[in-house]
Amino acid sequence: MPLLSHWLQQQRNKNILFIFAHPDDEILSSGALLYWCSSHTYNVHVLILTQGEKGINLIPKTTDSLAKIRRKEFEMVMNTLRIKNATLLPFPDGNLISQVKQTTSKIKSYIIKNNIGIIATHNQDGGDGHPDHITVSRVCKELASIHKIALLFSINPLTYKKNSRLGKNQFQLLLSKISKKRQISLLRLYRSQISNHTLTMVMVKQLFVPFEVYQLVDVKKKLTFEYKEFQCKTYTFSPKKETEILPK
Ligand SMILES: [Zn+2]
Repeated sequence: MPLLSHWLQQQRNKNILFIFAHPDDEILSSGALLYWCSSHTYNVHVLILTQGEKGINLIPKTTDSLAKIRRKEFEMVMNTLRIKNATLLPFPDGNLISQVKQTTSKIKSYIIKNNIGIIATHNQDGGDGHPDHITVSRVCKELASIHKIALLFSINPLTYKKNSRLGKNQFQLLLSKISKKRQISLLRLYRSQISNHTLTMVMVKQLFVPFEVYQLVDVKKKLTFEYKEFQCKTYTFSPKKETEILPK
């Protein structure tokens, strides 16, 4: 079985950058990989592009803005993981697509400055179809191709629950019960996002799959990033075009 840990150990450049759209995506999508890299010999960087201000707020009776709350939660999670290179940027939540140029330029400077060799990010379908996730995936694919960076897309593990056969260039990161517990306790630090109820309803299924799956992307190949109508509690996203393909 192709293991991600084997592939990672073969990489010369140990500077790995995790890029996600919202604070908590990094734990939900890549919590185990983050922990694995930070407890091995990797220089771990985390870049979150929005403050998640359009999300839900499950903390009762608070006067702080959701952006401020989620920033604090993110800092707490990064401190727990002892990740020093963690950045949260204030791009607009729910509307990253309007800032593709600015986002691309920010990430570009970051990868050059920090000599990034590997990027881990959202899959091209966003995992759950969230338009911000898809935008981040698009931007990372473009930059990885230009700067010759190894690109890993985090695949929703539920896809593999029944059929555990991996596709070409796909790797599993196997998780012990302890690492699953760790991931869940990290996720619980996002108090504004997680209650027992939402954890049960939305995340448990995903979190109890004992592995994460990654696709090593062929960055030279043209990919399709498909934006679909997306609804969450606080906003609705209606794509202008059914499908958007990045220009070559
Ligand atoms: Zn997200």
